Amino acid sequence: MSLVLDEHLIRFFNQTKDVYGDEIFLNYNDSSKNNSHSSFSSNITSFENQINKCHKCDLGHSRTNFVFGIGDPDASLMLVGEAPGEKEDIEGEPFVGRAGKLLDKILIAIGRSRNKDVFICNVLKCRPPENRDPLSNEVEKCEPFLQKQLSLLKPKLIVALGRISAMTLLKTKDSLTNMRSKLHKYEGIDLMVTYHPAALLRNPNFKKPAWEDFKFIRDKYLNG
Ligand code: URA
Repeated sequence: MSLVLDEHLIRFFNQTKDVYGDEIFLNYNDSSKNNSHSSFSSNITSFENQINKCHKCDLGHSRTNFVFGIGDPDASLMLVGEAPGEKEDIEGEPFVGRAGKLLDKILIAIGRSRNKDVFICNVLKCRPPENRDPLSNEVEKCEPFLQKQLSLLKPKLIVALGRISAMTLLKTKDSLTNMRSKLHKYEGIDLMVTYHPAALLRNPNFKKPAWEDFKFIRDKYLNG
């Protein structure tokens, strides 16, 4: 029994070290959140069933799977990426590649997971060919789905992952640095901008500021 626990602890510390280096942090359990999924769950599921055959733009013809999003229907946090990549298109789930694994570790470090108090999705629900940036007509067709997801989930905070997601949601061409340092609103809900996990993999120097963002998120939005 204690051997199993030790292995879990070692894995846990190795994972957190991957996220932000050697700094030690405390994990919080948020018992204040009501986790009954009943009616929200059926609403969000029926919404997914309503839209997952969408062909409003050309991506509907090239995709393998519609990637609606995944997570807790009572989530406080909604993480919004740009669009599904190759792996996500195949599996039908957002952030399942290398960047997604890092995102999972970040969530563990703030005491959450993709099924606990978090909902993960993208601005676009279908993969753009060769992972090119979303086109404005694709965003125009797809953004109402995100807005409906928000109205069903009612998260406390939206976190835009990366510049493309942030630019799309905030309708600006500002730099990530400028957008990152402010609290924004989207559809009346607080919105923060942080680095895309793929950027953290490319440039480990971004890990420390990203970890600052997630500590702020944990302390301001997840412990009340
Ligand atoms: N990048 C994104 O923005 N979204 C995904 O789902 C995967 C990678």
